[in-house]
Amino acid sequence: MQLHRFHGGLKLADETDASTAEPVLVMGVPAKLTVPLGQHIGEATEACVQVGDHVTKGQRIGQSKGYIAAHVHAPTSGKVADIDLYPVPHPSGLNAPCVVIEPDGRDEWGDARMEPWLDWDTRDLRALRQRLRAGGIVGLGGAAFPTAVKLNPRAGQRIHTLIVNGAECEPYISADDMLLRTAPEAVFEGIRITARLLGVERVLFAVEDNMPEAMRALTETLPTELRDLIELVSVPSIYPTGGERQLIKVLTGQEVPSGGLPADLGMVCHNPGTFKAICDTVIQGRPLLSRIVTVTGPGVKHPRNVEALLGTPFADVIEAAGGYAEGVDRLVMGGPMMGFAVHDDSIPVIKATNCLLATRPQDTPSPGPVMPCIRCAECAAVCPAQLLPQQLYWQAKAKDFDAIQDYGLFDCIECGCCAYVCPSNIPLVQYYRYAKNEIWAREKERQKSDIARERYEFRQERIEREEREKAERLAKKKAAVKNKENDGDKQAAIQAALERAQKKKAARAEGSEKNSEKGTGSETNGEETSTTNDTRDGDDR
Ligand code: SF4
Ligand code: SF4
Repeated sequence: MQLHRFHGGLKLADETDASTAEPVLVMGVPAKLTVPLGQHIGEATEACVQVGDHVTKGQRIGQSKGYIAAHVHAPTSGKVADIDLYPVPHPSGLNAPCVVIEPDGRDEWGDARMEPWLDWDTRDLRALRQRLRAGGIVGLGGAAFPTAVKLNPRAGQRIHTLIVNGAECEPYISADDMLLRTAPEAVFEGIRITARLLGVERVLFAVEDNMPEAMRALTETLPTELRDLIELVSVPSIYPTGGERQLIKVLTGQEVPSGGLPADLGMVCHNPGTFKAICDTVIQGRPLLSRIVTVTGPGVKHPRNVEALLGTPFADVIEAAGGYAEGVDRLVMGGPMMGFAVHDDSIPVIKATNCLLATRPQDTPSPGPVMPCIRCAECAAVCPAQLLPQQLYWQAKAKDFDAIQDYGLFDCIECGCCAYVCPSNIPLVQYYRYAKNEIWAREKERQKSDIARERYEFRQERIEREEREKAERLAKKKAAVKNKENDGDKQAAIQAALERAQKKKAARAEGSEKNSEKGTGSETNGEETSTTNDTRDGDDR
C-alpha cells in the first residue's frame, strides 16, 4: 500500500521498552473507588444512585441525558459512600462530581447486567447502537468522544472506510501496543461489529513500525474471513501520526477539511482499545469498567502496563508499578508531548487515562527562560496542521480572539511540536489552550445571554398576550351586558305597549257598557262608536 506524508511532525526517541517488558497486570479492586460522572467530551452525566445505596458491578451510576454523552457504571459491587465534588484528572485542576464507592469485596454482577449477545450479528443495527450507548463506551485513545455517536452517521452520509488507529505516537505510551499483543481477537471482533454497523467496504488497520510484536500478533490472529476486509498497515513512527487527521493523510493521501470531520470523507477512525470495549459490551454484556494504563517514566520503579478499574486512585496504579523512584517531582497524565501535569495522586483513573508518566527534575531539565520570538519559523515547519504557530501566539497574546480563529486556532491539535522546537522556549501550546478556553467561555456567556434574552422576550410576549386576552374578555363581557340591557329595554317597551293596549281595551269595554245602560239611538250611536273604534285601532297600529 502506498503511504503518504503529512506536513511537519517530529521523530522522537521511543521510550516504550521498559513498559513493554512485563505482561499487563490486572489490578485488583482498590479500597475505595472515586468514579467521576463526567468522563467524556460532551454533555453532563447525572448520578442515578444515592448515598447509602448498594450497587452491583456494571450497574449504571451516572445517567447521561444528552445525545453526545456516555453513561457511567459501578466498576465493582459495594456501597455508595458519597456523591460530591472531588479532584479529577483535568488540566484545570478543578473538582468535579464523583460517586465514591466502598467495595464490598464480592465483585458481584447484579440483575442490571446486560445479557451476552453471542448472536450479535443477527441483532438489528439500532439495538446494537443502543447497547454501545448502554455500555458507556468512549474513544479510549485519550479524546473520550462517545462512541455510539461516532457510529451513527448523519442521514445520507456514507462511511466506506474504517480506520484503526494503532499509531501510538507519544514516546512513552504503550497501552495500545500491549493490548494488541494480548487481545487481538477481541479487537478484531470489535472491528467486525463496527464494520457491520457502518457498512464499510474496507478497514485500514494502522500499526506503527516500532510495534513489531503487536503486528505479529495481529497477523497471526487475523481471521481468514476478514482478510479481504482488513488490511494491516505498518506506518512510520513520526509524531503525531496518531492524530486522526495525520493518520488519514498517511493512509489515504486525503486531507480532512478545516472544521470538518473524517466522516465528511466517508471515514471513521477508532482506537484499538475502543474496539475491545465494543466487543466486551456487545458480546459479553460488560460495560466499560476498566482500561489499560501505561505506568512509566524514570520516576516509577518498574514501568509496566496495568489494567485498572475506572475510579482507582493514581497512587494505587503507581504502586502496582513498584511505586515511585527516589526524587520524583512530576506526575503527568498522558504522554510527555500532549499530557498535563497533575498535583495530586489520589485522583482517579478515568476512561481517558492512557498513561501515567512520573519524572524527576534531572529527567526534564528546565527549558530555560522564555525569550522573545525571533520569527525563525521553526514552529511553522513542524506544525502537522500547517498552521502559523507564531501568528497564533501573537494573536493569543494580544487577546485578538477573532483574528486567532481566522488563523485556524481550532485546527490546532495541541501536539506540542511547535513548542518543542521553539528556540525561544515560548510555551506556545499554553497560549493556544488559553485562547481556546477564552473563546469557549465567551461563547458560553453569549449563549447564556441569548437564552436570558429569549426568556425575557418570551416573558414580555406572554405578559402582552395575557393583557390582550384580558382586554378582549372584558370587552366581550361589556358587550354582553349591553346586549342584555338592550334586551331589557325592548322587553320594557313591549310590556308598556301591551299595558297600553290592555288599558285601551278596558276603556273601550267600559264605554260600551255605559252606552248599553243609556239605551239611546242605537244605530246612530252604533255608527259613531264604529267610526271612533276604527280611528283608535289605526292609532294603535
Ligand atoms: S519557533 Fe518560536 S521563535 Fe521561532 S517563530 Fe516560532 S514562536 Fe517565534
Ligand atoms: S500545537 Fe498546534 S500549532 Fe503547534 S505544532 Fe501542534 S498543531 Fe501546530
